[in-house]
Amino acid sequence: MPELPEVETVRRGLEPAMSGARFVKVEVRRGDLRWPLPKDFARRLEGRTVTGFGRRAKYLLADLSSGDVLIMHLGMSGSFRVFDHGLRAGGEKLGRYRRERAQHAAHDHVVFHMSSGAVVTFNDPRRFGSMKIVPRAKLEAEPLLKSLGPEPLGNSFDAAMLARACKGKKTTLKAALLDQRLVAGLGNIYVCEALFRARLSPKRIASTIATRSGAPNERATHLVDAIKAVLSDAIKDGGSSLRDHRRTDGDLGMFQHHFRVYDREGETCRTAGCTGVVKRIVQNGRATFYCPACQT
Ligand SMILES: [Zn+2]
Repeated sequence: MPELPEVETVRRGLEPAMSGARFVKVEVRRGDLRWPLPKDFARRLEGRTVTGFGRRAKYLLADLSSGDVLIMHLGMSGSFRVFDHGLRAGGEKLGRYRRERAQHAAHDHVVFHMSSGAVVTFNDPRRFGSMKIVPRAKLEAEPLLKSLGPEPLGNSFDAAMLARACKGKKTTLKAALLDQRLVAGLGNIYVCEALFRARLSPKRIASTIATRSGAPNERATHLVDAIKAVLSDAIKDGGSSLRDHRRTDGDLGMFQHHFRVYDREGETCRTAGCTGVVKRIVQNGRATFYCPACQT
């Protein structure tokens, strides 16, 4: 399942193709994604220009000249593929792209033909992805977005805010960080990675990163620094894989990661000087990977 860094990488990949460009033609090949696309989906996009291309948590937000916003979510298996007619001269690229595309064409559900010359295809084998168009004025009240907490890479997300949110919370730190109302866009993988970098146990009670009055202690500071670092590093990785993909077939949404603790059960801890072994436990039905020796 794509997490925030993947979605940000997709945003960066789509932005040059879509921002400032007009939807010339929109093909809906399958409208039954996670929920059905509205009947007037293509009509509300065609002829409109994308005036901005942003992200909120794991949602991509394309601002339209009509005053609407196109909200897109990758779900479990969604990805975008960008084919730029401007690159047609690279015959090799086009060939690779076509072969690649032919294999998955049955899952190409939505195709945007942009005035930039870019053809943007949304491919989603499991169809948990979604698209929705809402007026910009109603975005704040949009049910998908309104209960989301702060962006973890934004300035408003800091130790003081996280400590306030965790004050008195008797859930584990792992569960608290997965709560999208507390901080938006963090998923299972990056929560494990952030707790590892902060050397905090995923089983630790959330309130222990705050004083009784809700002020941040050192743990809160380390945790916020770790969350920001782990996401920034992953976005950087995504950026390099994006360039690699550009050289091949323009696929956006899947890339290889280098995790320090996630999915490393039984392997040696990567913290300098630690001789611990990574353990896997299940918390709230999700796998947690951590080092019992240095994460306390
Ligand atoms: Zn360790």
